[in-house]
Amino acid sequence: MEKKDLEKFKEALLESRKEFLSKLKNAQSKISDSFDENGGDEIDAASQTSEKEVFFELTANDKITVDAIDNALVKIEQGNYGRCECCGEYISIERLKVIPWGRYCIKCQEEAERPRL
Ligand SMILES: [Zn+2]
Repeated sequence: MEKKDLEKFKEALLESRKEFLSKLKNAQSKISDSFDENGGDEIDAASQTSEKEVFFELTANDKITVDAIDNALVKIEQGNYGRCECCGEYISIERLKVIPWGRYCIKCQEEAERPRL
């Protein structure tokens, strides 16, 4: 990959990282806000619990994405960004433009997502 492309992806990754981290921060402060508001009521507590679970699920996904972004940034530093972690082939630029932190080429990704029979 050319250096100028690499720089572009690095910028995009850092930008997305910031976005995901602020999203995580917002979600976390929302969780503690709604938790603080009304403590005593049992019915409310139950609905709060499911609300919290949804938030935790959302933030769990975001955390995975932030991890993947960190991983991609390390790979840029190491000079092996853009290679599939499974087969070692280059991931297409078009694919990286959509998901700059993608770890696998389209072939391996499809293989992983195919339902096992
Ligand atoms: Zn692959």
